[in-house]
Amino acid sequence: MSGTMSDQILPIQFLDLKAQQIRLGPALRDRLDRVLAHCGFVLGPEVTELEQKLAAYCGAAHCVAVSSGTDALQIALMAEGIGRGDAVFLPAFTYTATAEVPLVLGATPIFVDVDPRTFQIDPASLEARIGDVKRAGKLRPRALIGVDLFGQPADWPALNAIAAREGLFTLDDCAQSFGGSLHGAKLGRAAMATATSFFPSKPLGGYGDGGALLTDDADRAALFRSLRSHGEGTTRYDVMRIGMNGRLDSLQAAVLLTKLEVFEGELARREAIARIYDAALSDVVTVPARVPDSMSAWAIYAILLRDGAQRDAVQAALKDKGVPSAIYYPKPLHHQPAYAKAHDGAPLPVSEALGTRILALPIHPDLTDAQADYVAAAVKAAIA
Ligand SMILES: *Cc1c(COP(=O)(O)O)cnc(C)c1O
Repeated sequence: MSGTMSDQILPIQFLDLKAQQIRLGPALRDRLDRVLAHCGFVLGPEVTELEQKLAAYCGAAHCVAVSSGTDALQIALMAEGIGRGDAVFLPAFTYTATAEVPLVLGATPIFVDVDPRTFQIDPASLEARIGDVKRAGKLRPRALIGVDLFGQPADWPALNAIAAREGLFTLDDCAQSFGGSLHGAKLGRAAMATATSFFPSKPLGGYGDGGALLTDDADRAALFRSLRSHGEGTTRYDVMRIGMNGRLDSLQAAVLLTKLEVFEGELARREAIARIYDAALSDVVTVPARVPDSMSAWAIYAILLRDGAQRDAVQAALKDKGVPSAIYYPKPLHHQPAYAKAHDGAPLPVSEALGTRILALPIHPDLTDAQADYVAAAVKAAIA
């Protein structure tokens, strides 16, 4: 892939949606033109086709396409009847939407710490936090949202064992990791339901907002369909339950169907870049630890520097050399002003420390080997 591109190294984009668009060629326009021709703009035939292809892609029995990853999470919790008095366990080190959704429904997020090497939710911390909630005696432990952070899978065998013992509903927040796999199986069936996002910057991204739910449970899938369309029954004019407008546009589905054709190649390209970074950088910084027997979708490739001062110096030095970088996430969610009052005050030391040391390097399918080499060399030079 890199051989077909120019040998020019700069500019380097953090994410290059324009290069991808050019690479997709006329197939994209053809798909969009078909939507413009039939004018079925919401939940049209492309949405049905996308649902079938995404379910088949990860081996799930059902896929319900929705308007965003956040709405996918919300619909999954609504279907479970989660609300006031319910404790929803989730990692403190993740994107804001994971914690926002239980709060919107009146439930309480219980923040759990993460593993310092893989950044994934820590099963030992989950056990401890379930114990905290039981001891306090105010909330009912109801659900676990495990996040597959940065593209790698969470430790689902351990999480599912705890959830089964405690009777928790399990929801996989797969927004960053669709396309990734664990023990040879694509993510999408690791929990009772899986929510993903097609925000443009995600590994499989549209040209706007979008998301999907995956499940093997037919009853759950039927509830998801009803909830995404205002709680409708067998006809649109029966309102069976309180739902929402969580529908996906046909134009987004058309974009996603086009991108799905090249998705495996893109994942392979992201993996190749991760290996370039691993090989060049593992001696000088902490490179991301791989979850055993997994494949990452590499939404984010994050290194750890020694401390905040070194991280900020490296980020500035990279900028000087034309290398964009980003900080995911500067602040753990239990320290966010909007969420802090929902937190019981338990220390979550790993989540609290990561934000000062972490730095995400460019990783996308149109980054050339030469560009990845340049990024790695710039990191090395900044540390020396
Ligand atoms: C992006 C993201 C979401 C939300 O997805 P949207 O489509 O932007 O609503 C939820 N969880 C995680 C971990 C994400 O990265």
